[in-house]
Amino acid sequence: MNFDRINYVNSYFIKLFGERTLKICIDGGFTCPNRDGTKSCNGCIFCSEKGSGEHLKSSLSIFDQVKNAFNSIKITRANKFILYFQNYTNTYDSIQNLNKKYDEAISAFNTLSEEYYLKENIKKELVGLQIATRPDCITEDIAKFLSTYKSKLHVFVELGLQTSNEETGKFINRCYTNDDFSNAVLILNKYNIDIIAHIMIGLPTIKNNLQTIEDHNDTINTVSFINKHNIQGLKIHSTYIVKNTYLEKLFIESLYSPMSLDYYLEELSYVITHVSKDIIIHRISGDAPKDLLVAPLWNLHKKWILNGIYKKLNDKDLYQGIYYKK
Ligand code: SF4
Repeated sequence: MNFDRINYVNSYFIKLFGERTLKICIDGGFTCPNRDGTKSCNGCIFCSEKGSGEHLKSSLSIFDQVKNAFNSIKITRANKFILYFQNYTNTYDSIQNLNKKYDEAISAFNTLSEEYYLKENIKKELVGLQIATRPDCITEDIAKFLSTYKSKLHVFVELGLQTSNEETGKFINRCYTNDDFSNAVLILNKYNIDIIAHIMIGLPTIKNNLQTIEDHNDTINTVSFINKHNIQGLKIHSTYIVKNTYLEKLFIESLYSPMSLDYYLEELSYVITHVSKDIIIHRISGDAPKDLLVAPLWNLHKKWILNGIYKKLNDKDLYQGIYYKK
């Protein structure tokens, strides 16, 4: 395998920002049209009560969340940072409110960075803004608004796709279509905003009227769908079951069996080696919260995934490229 064709996020950030760059995750207190009744009240069947990002304390103000990052060990591990609005749908609000929340985070970072400099004589610089959202929550106005941050920060939009199989899309209740995804990509491309697509392996689906999990053909089709779009990054996520989700109910009723680690590694290696060579790989596992995870338990061991894929691909750059944090 020629690994020159695989681009990993840490090396990409070093190329882009000149040095190691880390993210500060923020819960901006948004909701989701798939939760508030606009599209559905139930959410995607795997989505936890916190809309992904369970480790974040949404009860804290945005300022306090950034302050927590400045008070944590993370701040000593890099000098450049990206503010990452992670939970729920971070473009699902009026432009005025989006502006207020993003600016609040940016101004918190700048204030705290000045204080840190006075205390430690070390400069901490904000270089990026990353916004996680759904394709049906990207409009021309929102893309135009996001592009206003580009004069000072690198802007990334993380866009859910999960799968290109529309039947699975319906089954997991994502409540948007592949066309919505394609439209959002075209709009963001128009404003030259970096897109990080999010896909999942091991989703439940219906085939021949039987409930099963997505197979290798689904992985092939999703990769081929991704490759047809002008996308700059990819997050690959293993499907896992967390408490109080519809997926947990299916699991308890023996209607969904989570995939094995071997199956995940097989599909993951296909994705990594078949996406367009310019796409940056940002993530190769889910981030299962220990206290909420129901199954599969191997999801708690990022190292197992990393070692497994390392052995499969024999790619020593994976360690440096994806997870070189301790
Ligand atoms: S779109 Fe995201 S936040 Fe909304 S229900 Fe689905 S996974 Fe949860």
